[in-house]
Amino acid sequence: MKKFILQNLIRENILALNPYSCARDEFKGDDAIFLDANENPYGIWNRYPDPYQSKVKQKLCQFKNVPDDRIFIGNGSDEVIDLAFRIFCNPGIDRALSFPPTYGMYKVSAAINNIEMTEIPLRDDFQIDLPALIPFFDDVHLKIIFICSPNNPTGNLINPNDIEFILDNFNGIVFVDEAYIDFAGSKSLISAIDNYPNLIVSQTFSKSRALASARVGLAYSNPEIIGYYNKVKPPYNVSGPNQQAAFDALVNEEEFLSCKSAILAEKQRLQKELSVIPLIKKVYHSDANFFLVEVDDANKIYSALIDMKIVTRNRNSVIKNCIRMTVGTYDENTVLLEALRSGRVYD
Ligand SMILES: *Cc1c(COP(=O)(O)O)cnc(C)c1O
Repeated sequence: MKKFILQNLIRENILALNPYSCARDEFKGDDAIFLDANENPYGIWNRYPDPYQSKVKQKLCQFKNVPDDRIFIGNGSDEVIDLAFRIFCNPGIDRALSFPPTYGMYKVSAAINNIEMTEIPLRDDFQIDLPALIPFFDDVHLKIIFICSPNNPTGNLINPNDIEFILDNFNGIVFVDEAYIDFAGSKSLISAIDNYPNLIVSQTFSKSRALASARVGLAYSNPEIIGYYNKVKPPYNVSGPNQQAAFDALVNEEEFLSCKSAILAEKQRLQKELSVIPLIKKVYHSDANFFLVEVDDANKIYSALIDMKIVTRNRNSVIKNCIRMTVGTYDENTVLLEALRSGRVYD
């Protein structure tokens, strides 16, 4: 592999950027009379939040065994993805690459940033088609490759050897989205961020941490890349209430573990029971908290479920006759199973 030089990948305007210096950058600590930020002195949420979310990062350091200079916290993974485009990709010139069917935000975020997305469809087994990918390693305008593992909406982990091959042979950024990694029985790539100068691993509090409403997404990478993230982000990108919610979620480890095992137990039950329902043709293997299910007529079954106030995700437009179903509570799953077994979905 050619020598990897991060600076060469950063947009020139970002290299030259003089970042906003906020009031909270100049004085650290909370024991003072604050007359510096034009805040209202009354109230509970009246103060600007910590721009670098130190309390949350301290807790994350303990759990993930990663120093805080390797962690970025964003307003959901959506911000983590968007900032990657802003840091690395020149609008109208550079490209990114992804492996559909996959998470829709990579392409939408690329389009918002006027970046063309090259798409290499996953193979029939939902793994990466390496021979089709390799020629693109030579594209000097290809800046980011997005890999979603476990992948949404297919549910499977991407072969770690393939990810390693891409990390070793591609001279741009490899963005690995691990939104569902806590549900998978495999190790996170976070432990590899010091081995690969081009690796960004994203995770989120939206799924296993039960905080989708709080919008807390994470990037783990080397301090240099995290430095650019901090340079480009809006100063107060994670609100005070959201930082508090993330902190509380990390403190309450027992609840996290018991929720997770409840979900995994229900996942097993769903897998078993879905696979013997006649109208279901296939339940794909899942390393996440949802199933991709193939039926004979996805549009019809999706609408019938909606009529029963059961909302699934119709993926027919991306994978023919497939519906994505999230693992819910015992009661929710029971209602779903009964609906699928009942004649009503055949009408
Ligand atoms: C749900 C999901 C996310 C989470 O996004 P947030 O903005 O953090 O809520 C990220 N990536 C994938 C693949 C997802 O399915």
